[in-house]
Amino acid sequence: MNVLVINCGSSSLKFQLINSESEAVLAKGLCERIGIDGRLTYQPAGGEKNVSEKAMPTHTEAIQFVIDALTDADTGVVKSLDEIGAVGHRVVHGGEKFAKSVVVTPEVKAAIAECNDLAPLHNPANLIGIEACESLMPGTPQVVVFDTAFHQTMPEKAYMYGLPYEYYEKYKVRRYGFHGTSHSFVSKRVAEIVGKPYNATKTIVCHLGNGASVSAVLNGESVDTSMGLTPLEGLVMGTRSGDIDPAIMEFIAKKENLDIAGIMNVLNKKSGVEGVSGVSSDFRDLETAAKAGNKRAELAIDVFAYRVAKYVGAYTAAMNGVDNIVFTAGIGENCALVRTKVCSYLGYLGITIDEEANGKRGEEIVISTPDSKVKVLVVPTNEELAIARETVALV
Ligand code: ADP
Repeated sequence: MNVLVINCGSSSLKFQLINSESEAVLAKGLCERIGIDGRLTYQPAGGEKNVSEKAMPTHTEAIQFVIDALTDADTGVVKSLDEIGAVGHRVVHGGEKFAKSVVVTPEVKAAIAECNDLAPLHNPANLIGIEACESLMPGTPQVVVFDTAFHQTMPEKAYMYGLPYEYYEKYKVRRYGFHGTSHSFVSKRVAEIVGKPYNATKTIVCHLGNGASVSAVLNGESVDTSMGLTPLEGLVMGTRSGDIDPAIMEFIAKKENLDIAGIMNVLNKKSGVEGVSGVSSDFRDLETAAKAGNKRAELAIDVFAYRVAKYVGAYTAAMNGVDNIVFTAGIGENCALVRTKVCSYLGYLGITIDEEANGKRGEEIVISTPDSKVKVLVVPTNEELAIARETVALV
């Protein structure tokens, strides 16, 4: 079956068409500037990337262009919509309502809408994408895969904040965690690589991308994760602060004359390694600057790696041990320097790194030495493939 995987943002839409038998990507692309003007980037497997300007007042036009591109007589990869068996949507927040992926029904859509205030930028856009597909592909089953679902196995003690309990009861304020599709995909793959049953392994997943989070996966279930009610908590990220003393918000608000929206903008968009370095949120730029002697770029990389190492320590305690530590996503997969720095704090776990293996890029690889007490791996994540697999399993 061919599955159309859709990741809808407020003004963008990423897509891949995946064949579930071969797990090959038949075509992929991106619609940008939806509601502004509109641009479609489309690339069939083995073919040229094509960028075209197209008017996209809403997501419905964007998805129509995606369908047109996929079925185009020259550059398309299927003859008609009949060759697309299902659509899988990434949805950011499933709240406490969804611990698993589900087939879209009117009740499911209503429940997603009820989570809107937990992810006001993302969930409404995800719903618009679902409804656009329903109108353009009536009869094609649709599945939603939630970023939060994998972490719904966390015990109460891990998800409860030290706040008045009524905020949990009234507003569902608690830790949810994100990147669940990636944490699940990567931790499963680690069990296969090391040849141990998934339900008998202790794995810490470091998903280090522009957004970044760590999770503790005990016997196949997420028992803790660093992102919280929103993706702002936890690691120092590209432009997000991660954990800070909450009192800093009032302190800076007064000094800089900012309201709460202004403070949230600073914490989400002007902080992280970009804020610390003053150089960039991108680790390629940071490495280049640090090599050229920029001390704040070097500091930003150190702050980032130190925070990851502290979470690895915390989650080793949470699971009373760890068998595997795995790095994934843009930085985790590509930045050997960050992996080396994180692992430099982990000698107490009996970890030793094979620097030659660590120097390789873009492949699944064990980077610890054979005598290392804990296995350290790099496993490229593939959230689209994970969504396609979930979709097929449900339809
Ligand atoms: P997201 O999905 O959250 O946008 P990604 O997982 O795609 O993030 O990661 C993007 C980040 O990965 C970039 O901002 C950059 O910091 C890092 N990255 C990508 N390639 C490299 C590389 N070759 N070396 C170092 N860092 C890299």
